Amino acid sequence: MTNFKDLEVWFVTGAQLLYGGDAVIQVDAHSNEMVKGLNESGNLPVKVVYKGTVNSAKEVTAAFKAANNEDKCIGVITWMHTFSPAKMWIHGLQELKKPLLHFHTQFNKEIPWETMDMDFMNLNQSAHGDREFGHIVTRMRKNRKVVVGHWQDPKAQAKIAGWMRVAAAWADAQDMLILRFGDQMNNVAVTDGDKVEAEQVLGYHVDYYPINDVMAYYNAITDQEVEALVSEYFSLYDHDPSLEQEGTVAYEKVWNSAKAEIAIRCVLKETGAKGFTTNFNDLGEFDQIPGLASQRLMAEGYGFGAEGDWKTAALYRTTWFMSQGMPQGCSFLEDYTLHFDGERSAILQAHMLEVCPMIAETKPKLEVHRLSIGIDSETARLVFTSKQGTGVAATIVDLGNRFRLIVNKVECIKSKPLPKLPVASALWIPMPNLEVGAAAWILAGGTHHTSFSYDLTPEYWQDFAEMAGIEIVIINENTTIDAFKKELRLNEIYYMLNKALC
Ligand code: MN
Repeated sequence: MTNFKDLEVWFVTGAQLLYGGDAVIQVDAHSNEMVKGLNESGNLPVKVVYKGTVNSAKEVTAAFKAANNEDKCIGVITWMHTFSPAKMWIHGLQELKKPLLHFHTQFNKEIPWETMDMDFMNLNQSAHGDREFGHIVTRMRKNRKVVVGHWQDPKAQAKIAGWMRVAAAWADAQDMLILRFGDQMNNVAVTDGDKVEAEQVLGYHVDYYPINDVMAYYNAITDQEVEALVSEYFSLYDHDPSLEQEGTVAYEKVWNSAKAEIAIRCVLKETGAKGFTTNFNDLGEFDQIPGLASQRLMAEGYGFGAEGDWKTAALYRTTWFMSQGMPQGCSFLEDYTLHFDGERSAILQAHMLEVCPMIAETKPKLEVHRLSIGIDSETARLVFTSKQGTGVAATIVDLGNRFRLIVNKVECIKSKPLPKLPVASALWIPMPNLEVGAAAWILAGGTHHTSFSYDLTPEYWQDFAEMAGIEIVIINENTTIDAFKKELRLNEIYYMLNKALC
């Protein structure tokens, strides 16, 4: 649906004229070489564009204002080759609205012990220059990522790459429309929240879209369109040959599922929406829950949340956007049922139907079975179990005075088919184990719905939370309940004060 190729990250080098124009010319050449090296490393998903050295408050402000106004620019990297007196950054930093990465690096890799002279020093002063810059950013309470390492080091480049993916997803979130087909499930607290605040803080715009209007699309779809999609299903997914037999209930259900998928995709395309929610109590003239449609649209990059859960729909879109092109995949998931087994105690992750086939271990199977929730009907769906490996589950909750992002590292273990409950599923052990992981999640007020990814790490979410300026709590292999509770209590005070001070 989209990718990173049209995006840019700007690279701005901090300098000053104390060492003469020649030094700045050399720094400019170094910066060019560094940016070229970063771009040619093949390790960065977004192009870096060098925007020159800045030597005064005027130049800083002009560079950052230009960054704000350029849609393609998703973030700014700064590097101080030398002591760049930081008062000159104040006005520019006040203006800057794009995510900031401060790269603490140096053109020269190792100290040339035998030949080092003052000329060399004038060109390699990041050691103190970057600290002066860091001071003012901290004093101004501006969130940013600090990456330390030589610019040719793949480890430092990987850090920048991760931040770039997050910055791209952040830009995507600032122009994100989520459509709700139906309202939230009645009485459910955790999927509700302040949509006005969400737009202000996270960028997500959430609209209601009447299911009757979806039906106008549904009823206008031609047989040829449906036929083409049904044959795509049969070529893509394993299935029982009997499913292809026209005139059967199962065939009709696959047919109508394809119709639902086409209708929803049409609405999303025409409105420019990046995600949607459904509600199984509000399905218009659909003859079954459009679960297969949701599964496939998620794989295309559309955000999805069940039961009106617009926060998870938006977060899934962000997850997908960040992890585009990464190998393992992501999905909306729900904590379904518990499996107690000592240290290997796990949570089965599934939903009525809506699990993204990107996380499947083997080719998904198209099946039709009865589902009694919502519309009691034979219902098409993709069935599979998920890959094994580590991943992260994330959710955003509205605590009344702020949003909290909750992230849990998990270990996906071998799941088993469920012959009497044929749905797609994953099975994971929340880190550090079920006892602590699930308790911490519950104490943090986390949802039963999550946006899950194998490819992301908590660091991606940390960067995302900093860009949004929201709270994040991470549950991982080192979490203890005692320390976690203290963190929650301290955060309560921190965010209360922060809000009062800003
Ligand atoms: Mn649910």
